[in-house]
Amino acid sequence: MRTQVAIIGAGPAGLLLGQLLHKHGIDNVILERQTAEHVLGRVRAGVIEQVTVDLLDEAGVGARLHADGLVHDGVQICVDGVRHRLSFKELTGKTVMVYGQTEITKDLMDGRAAVGAPTIYSAHDVALHDFFGQKPRVTYRAGGKSHEIACDFIAGCDGFHGISRKSVPASAITAHERVYPLGWLGILSDTPPVSEELIYVHHPLGFALCSMRTPTRSRYYIQCSLAEDIESWVDERFWEEIRPRLDDEARERLVTGPSIEKSIAPLRSFVAEPMRFGRLFLAGDAAHIVPPTGAKGLNLAASDVRYLSQALVEHYAEKSAAGLDHYSERALARVWKAERFSWWMTMLLHRISENPFDQKLQLAELDYLFRSKAAATAFAENYVGLPY
Ligand SMILES: Cc1cc2nc3c(=O)[nH]c(=O)nc-3n(C[C@H](O)[C@H](O)[C@H](O)COP(=O)(O)OP(=O)(O)OC[C@H]3O[C@@H](n4cnc5c(N)ncnc54)[C@H](O)[C@@H]3O)c2cc1C
Repeated sequence: MRTQVAIIGAGPAGLLLGQLLHKHGIDNVILERQTAEHVLGRVRAGVIEQVTVDLLDEAGVGARLHADGLVHDGVQICVDGVRHRLSFKELTGKTVMVYGQTEITKDLMDGRAAVGAPTIYSAHDVALHDFFGQKPRVTYRAGGKSHEIACDFIAGCDGFHGISRKSVPASAITAHERVYPLGWLGILSDTPPVSEELIYVHHPLGFALCSMRTPTRSRYYIQCSLAEDIESWVDERFWEEIRPRLDDEARERLVTGPSIEKSIAPLRSFVAEPMRFGRLFLAGDAAHIVPPTGAKGLNLAASDVRYLSQALVEHYAEKSAAGLDHYSERALARVWKAERFSWWMTMLLHRISENPFDQKLQLAELDYLFRSKAAATAFAENYVGLPY
């Protein structure tokens, strides 16, 4: 088989890239290790920046998002039982959209099926070859047979644990990493959210987040240790842990019910530099990870895809290599801003240190955020998404 761009991974980055390239007449094949059902079953991101919404519109898959997504004008931060609201609309004129990653993935899968572009699910032993030369290839096994795809470029959109980044010689790549000593235990339940806006909770018992997917489906997280066994977290235990962290109003409005999904996500900051290796380009979680506190992971994946799709269009339509040559530099400039913001929010809101000095500093910084318009504006600008 031959294609112009072989895309590894059918997460949001790979599917969005495929859709944008197809719109510009660029052939692409997506290879995905899992089944489509497995990919759709992963409950993750929920807060979508306006620039990501615009890109999904450009890809022609925004209709359901505009019909069902929830526009949020602001966010609330609860410190030791007292809630403070930060209005994005007033501070920046912008908003964010709450719409689940699973729904975005479904919209992208449906869009791809509608145009008949190929995705090979359950592709095993994917291997990348010759990407430092002129004729890269990808091999894989599917249906009990070995296959090979010859291509012009490879897009590594296969997430943090994927094969693309691992295929690069260690001498050509630098990894920067911070692992936090905690994780997020999250549950999804078909119960109405405690608030119309997200509530980030700073509390001596630890961080919590009250989020949602729809007016009848809630997503809650609490900070947990990395040693936690998910099996020991029966639903009642989760509700008992989150309840005391909330303010009185939220506690009164909390409707508990059976979880329909429950998972633990470790918190990590990671950046691999550069993001281009000859004819291989990394995008999304394959190149960088942020702790979920700033809601930036999927949005960063989308901004990488924006730069990469534009660069590939320039290459094919205008015979210009400028976009491809600058891809890594442009993407990383945005990545590091999101890394800083996600790290800052994580350090501000979680109980990480038992040193009372660090805890007092957190409270002083939160107080500054609520009192200073400059601090609140900087927060809101980062949360809604910096311009490209
Ligand atoms: C709890 C939690 C909450 C989050 N909340 C937010 C939020 O509110 N906002 C936000 O922007 N982000 C959020 N994120 C982050 C977001 O989910 C990720 O950044 C996003 O999924 C990245 O997309 P991706 O396509 O780069 O990678 P992935 O979604 O990881 O997709 C990679 C794909 O590649 C496939 N793959 C892997 N290896 C191979 C291989 N060898 N061969 C073929 N295929 C392979 C995988 O199966 C997968 O389908 C959150 C994450 C978590 C865990």
